[in-house]
Amino acid sequence: LFDVYVAPITVVSLEGSMIISLHDLTEARRVERMRADFIANASHELRTPLSSLLGFIETLQGPAKDDENARIRFLGIMRDQARRMARLIDDLLSLSRIEQNLHVRPQAPVDLALVLRHVVETLTPMAHDNHVMLNLDSPDSLIVRGDYDELLRVVENLVENAIKYGLPVSHNHKPEIVITLAKRSRNAIMSVRDFGPGIASEHLPRLTERFYRVDNRQSRDKGGTGLGLAIVKHILARHQGRLGIDSRLGEGSTFNVALPLHED
Ligand code: ADP
Repeated sequence: LFDVYVAPITVVSLEGSMIISLHDLTEARRVERMRADFIANASHELRTPLSSLLGFIETLQGPAKDDENARIRFLGIMRDQARRMARLIDDLLSLSRIEQNLHVRPQAPVDLALVLRHVVETLTPMAHDNHVMLNLDSPDSLIVRGDYDELLRVVENLVENAIKYGLPVSHNHKPEIVITLAKRSRNAIMSVRDFGPGIASEHLPRLTERFYRVDNRQSRDKGGTGLGLAIVKHILARHQGRLGIDSRLGEGSTFNVALPLHED
């Protein structure tokens, strides 16, 4: 059976002529279902750290009331859980703000080369802590049309993911992440390549869905919200840009971004 729903046909008679309208409800139902799933997922993601927080509060009020060691340890865990909730709420708010403005294309000239240098500078300490090098290969300047902060967010999310999930699995692979920027016809092409474990092909089409993760546990342990690539996809849509993902198990992943150049 086809998953198509058609609402009752509307027939309106207007002085001899007739208007017949057929409403296809398939799209409306799909959107409705996605919205319901999204609310269920978001609530679940917030509920988990909240339940843990309540559990620790009750333990500190009761059984562990006079245990100084437990107090210090539990407070550390509670701070992490509260931070996790704050991160999730920040990401949800970003996503909803971008979605509201999805059809308004940001117009300011943005130097993508500057964005890349900025991200490399801020993420070098995180890369250093994970024993991986960030290697940048970029022209001095390449101007696209857009919003500086949003494009910074795109690059930051991709490089952060490469550091979190793309660390080399064996010594045969270089401990590096290669970030390149180049001009190709009327587009700027930016790519972030890692030599990590890679992503199985069945996951690739779903990676930019909200809350989709290859490995839930790993993402949560690394502070992920499951919203990073959804935010990337929405920002790029607003910029008339595109995201392409190439990945092979055991060899690593490349995330490619194409953005139209700023042309006067
Ligand atoms: P998260 O908050 O979990 O990092 P994202 O939307 O940024 O969410 O990414 C979705 C999932 O895609 C991650 O949970 C991870 O499983 C996978 N992923 C993203 N980038 C990479 C990468 N460079 N290498 C391997 N897996 C990745």
